[in-house]
Formats: sequence, C-alpha cells, structure tokens
Amino acid sequence: MDRPYGTPRPHEARRGPLAPDLRRATSHAFGDAAALRAHGDRSVHGDFYPRYGHANARAFESFVAELEGADGAVSFASGMAAMHGVLCGLASHGDRIAIARQVYGGTTNLATKDLPRFGIEVETFDALDPASLGAALVRPARMVVVETPVNPTLRLVDLQRIAAIAHSRGALLVVDGTFAPPPIQRSLTLGTDLVVHSATKFLGGHSDVLAGVVAGAHPLLVGIEAFRARSGAILAPDPAWLLCRSAETHALRVAAQQDAALWIAQELRARVSPRGPLLAVSHPALPDHPDAALRARQMPGGGGALVLIEVLGGLPGAMAAFDRFAVVARAPSLGGVETNASIPAHTTHAALSPEQRRELGIGEGAIRLSIGLEPRERILDDVLRSLGLS
Ligand code: PLP
Repeated sequence: MDRPYGTPRPHEARRGPLAPDLRRATSHAFGDAAALRAHGDRSVHGDFYPRYGHANARAFESFVAELEGADGAVSFASGMAAMHGVLCGLASHGDRIAIARQVYGGTTNLATKDLPRFGIEVETFDALDPASLGAALVRPARMVVVETPVNPTLRLVDLQRIAAIAHSRGALLVVDGTFAPPPIQRSLTLGTDLVVHSATKFLGGHSDVLAGVVAGAHPLLVGIEAFRARSGAILAPDPAWLLCRSAETHALRVAAQQDAALWIAQELRARVSPRGPLLAVSHPALPDHPDAALRARQMPGGGGALVLIEVLGGLPGAMAAFDRFAVVARAPSLGGVETNASIPAHTTHAALSPEQRRELGIGEGAIRLSIGLEPRERILDDVLRSLGLS
C-alpha cells in the first residue's frame, strides 16, 4: 500500500543514480485535473507539496524503517518535533501520559509545561523502579515514555519489563532510543511500540543536521503522519539528503565509536581511585556497570559511544579538567564523529539543584564524553592529561 512516509527499502540492486537527487521543489506540475486532485486529497502519495511528504524525507525514513525493523518511519525537523508529533499525534484532551523522570529535559519540559495546557494529564515515574510505573498506571494512560540508556548516568531501563506493565494497563510504550540506535539496541524487538530518535545525534553523526524520526507500526504512524502534515513539522529536503548520506556509514561509525568508547572506558577504569583525581567511570559494557546483565540482553550490539566520568573536586574539579581538554571538544550534543565533552550540571541538568542531580545519580564532578572517530589513543591521552594522570 502507498504510504505518505517511508517504508523499509527493498533489497535490490540500485538503478539510476547511485546517490539520491536532492529535490527542493515546493510545488509539482501535473498533466491533468484528476492527477492533481488525487495528490491533493492524498489518495496518491507522490511529489505534490513537501509538507505532506517528499522524496528525500521518504528516503531517510526508509533507511530508519529498515534499521529499526519497523513497518515505517516518520521524519521531523528535530528530535523534539518528533517527540511532539508522537505525544500530540496520539494523545487527546482527557488522556494521561506517564513519563519517566529519566528522560531528556526537553521532553520533560514539553510534557509538563505544554501538554497539561491542552488537557493531557502527565504523571512522572522512576523508570529504574518499574514498581513506580505500576503506581503511575493505577488509572489508565494512553502512553508511557522512557529513554534508555539514561542521560548522563548511562543506567539502563528494562524495556521488556516496562512494556509488560504498560501493555497490561492498555498503554503504549514509547522509547527515546537516541543514545543507542540499532545495531546497538533494537527497541521494537523488546516490546516497544514506537522508537523516537533525535537524528541530530548518531543518525546524522556529523554535527551538521538537526532532525528527528519515529519508527513503529503502521496503525500508529498513520496518526502521527497526519498530525505532522497538519502541524507542518516535517524534515526539510536538504537535511534529509544529508541524513541519507550519513545512513550509508551509520553501522560503521557506530561500531567504531562504541569500540573506542569501551576501550577508553576500560583504560580509564583501571585508573579509578577513591583518592582521585578520577573517582568513577561508567560505560554500559563495563563488567561492573550496575545493569550489566540487562545490557547483555537489551543492547546485544554493544554499550554505545558515551562514557561518564566523575572527577575529584565536584563541579570546580570537573570544570578545571574540562578546560584542559585539547583534543576533546567542549560542546553540547553527542553522537558526532568528533569526540566532545559536556558537564551535565552546566547543560542537560543545569535546571536541577545539586541535591536533585544527586537523586538522579549525577555527581557534581560528572563529565559526559561522546566518543568520535579520532584515533582512540589520542582521545585517551587527552583525557588522562586533563585529569593530571599522565
Ligand atoms: N532526546 C535526547 C536523548 C536528546 O539528547 C535530545 C537532544 O539533545 C533530544 C531528544 C532532542 O533532540 P533535538 O535536539 O534534535 O530536538
């Protein structure tokens, strides 16, 4: 069936140009009135008007649908636009949504500041304690939203357990899988109904595209796509074209980045001391990770490319080490081919008090590293030198 969004691309030899064309046209001419009407009433989904879908967005969506093993995917102008598309495309006035405390701050803000203004009730719960989801779902909810691995602690949320609880109460499970795209984690095989990505991160991979995408089954995507057409949040042709280019190297990039991340985490782990300067190192594939058993089940493709370190001296200690980085870029965001570092107390979790951060397991001396594709020894040397360990 013809869809207004991308479905998995067929495995057949390519014909014609090997690289996709970039189609920027915002209007297309038709041979007769019937053809124009068929596109206008959306009984045919082809090139017509780009807010209703276009070839470059569909090509990226087809890649994501294939990557996630989904019926299809719907792309958006940013990760937040994708999350908004899911929440507002599927929930209505009077519905309830249960959202994990451990999700991206932008998602929390959207859910708690905006959804209630439109009559959608929002309940928060602790995703690391599935019993608290049971309590949040005493009254029925439309959906449950979690994120795993959790930013920046890299703790893991047990998707199969959360899915079982959500489904037993008639709720959908939506997962933000930005930190661990396939082949690391295939959320849809673990009971998740919809997986959302900030494609700005690993799917783009080159720190030059702002984009978002959601993948899942057709009956849900239909409502999300229809809302996207009404709200106008579709991904534009140029970033979609860039994402298709990134798609060709996605598996290679992610594999190399996470191999380097694990190696760097192991090397740093060997230098951890309660006397400092390095107090702790976290990476989901380290054997002493608190969710190591879950990681083996849930992230068979590896532990991802993020590493969290905790340095002596709290926030001033973290800032001093951070300012000494010479190779690692001091920058927000993650998933790019360039290694970067950020201080959660200054970026993603700046709005929280030190006590609130501690409750979430985020120490004041925490620095989050997103490992890129530079030679791994050079990254390690830079971190060790910045910590005063070399
Ligand atoms: N989800 C996660 C886990 C993120 O880290 C971010 C952004 O940092 C988003 C969603 C939002 O994505 P975007 O910035 O592409 O809107």
